Amino acid sequence: MSKLIVQKYGGTSVGSPERIKEVAKRVIRYHDRGDSVVVVVSAMSGQTNKLVELINEINPGGSAREKDVVLSTGEQVTIGLLSLALEAQGCPARSYTGAQARVMTDNAYCKARISNIDGSQIKQDLADGKVVVVAGFQGVDEHGNITTLGRGGSDTTAVALAVALEADECQIFTDVDGVYTTDPRMVPEAKHIPKLALEEMLEMASQGSKVLQIRAVEFAHKYDMPIRVLSSFDEGDDGKSTLVTREEDIMEEVLVRGVAFNKDEAQLTITGVPDQPGVAYKILGPISDANIEVDMIVQNIGSDGTTDFTFTVHRNDYEQAKKILCDTARELGAKDCTGDDKIAKVSIIGGGMRSHAGVASQMFEALAKENINIRMISTSEIKVSVVVDEKYLELAVRTLHEVFQLDQ
Ligand code: ASP
Ligand code: MG
Repeated sequence: MSKLIVQKYGGTSVGSPERIKEVAKRVIRYHDRGDSVVVVVSAMSGQTNKLVELINEINPGGSAREKDVVLSTGEQVTIGLLSLALEAQGCPARSYTGAQARVMTDNAYCKARISNIDGSQIKQDLADGKVVVVAGFQGVDEHGNITTLGRGGSDTTAVALAVALEADECQIFTDVDGVYTTDPRMVPEAKHIPKLALEEMLEMASQGSKVLQIRAVEFAHKYDMPIRVLSSFDEGDDGKSTLVTREEDIMEEVLVRGVAFNKDEAQLTITGVPDQPGVAYKILGPISDANIEVDMIVQNIGSDGTTDFTFTVHRNDYEQAKKILCDTARELGAKDCTGDDKIAKVSIIGGGMRSHAGVASQMFEALAKENINIRMISTSEIKVSVVVDEKYLELAVRTLHEVFQLDQ
């Protein structure tokens, strides 16, 4: 049965003329067997960074609108080149920038969100037997201004297009052949995962797994769009892949699917704050006013009329957040304001946790045996995360990977 497939190729997959020709060959294999194929491409590897450098040499504080005019050009090069490569190999193709493909966004330049895609022209081209090539990472606002979606945004374009076109599958071609139980660069025993639930992938991405851009997974989860992660470096079409799909299509529910980690966070603590209504707001209000995102939050039970409050932010925001917090501490008459940016967050994720007790204590026991101190804990239905000293990160990941038998 022929399918409608959206394929996305990242920067390394289109990093040279040879690679682009290889991508064209692969696209044609799908096209030849009768599938309708829409291809979304990133800029050639390193190109977007070069554009950022150019911008920074000219006017780093300049207007975001003009930055997007520059940033969007990387993808325009690859859609044209890939279409030319397809044409050279005898396959009719047509390229579209984000604006031409009617990828409508809000006007938040450099981090725009897709609001709607009018896929009628693309559908017409597919019906005419063409391969359609769309620039990832970019769109257009209602006034015709060019926008970009934030770094790594091509994944999101691909998923959004797949949803708009009601595709059978969204295939993300990258430099790895799927999702692993943890990062194989840290744990060589990590195992390839053939299939997992969108919700599990969402937790993995938000807890630090870098395979898929988190916003793309959010989009896929919201609209139930299956994503397949494949390597564009595999020769044929029968290599390994990971299918990230609907909960009900997962036959085997496992307790722990994977171990994710994140070294990009920093911890901030304010102690001895008056234990009164509104205190959490007084502490976090100024942080969010400064546009700093907060991840984990822990507040102690009050005693003696005071309480302690700890939260984590991205490491890049650490200095600024600490300054704001210490100002708040003075205002509130708190006892102390401290911080630490040498921390790491380690999480275990698995859909089976929903119906099984004791997973968290098994995790804590394993960490205790290795003498790893847990600084903070947070949980969701299908995840347990702990914050530990950065120096224990690798040991913690290895230990949990082994204890939950992910290497088997
Ligand atoms: N070219 C853009 C970037 O490097 C978008 C992407 O690759 O997804 O961030
Ligand atoms: Mg990229």
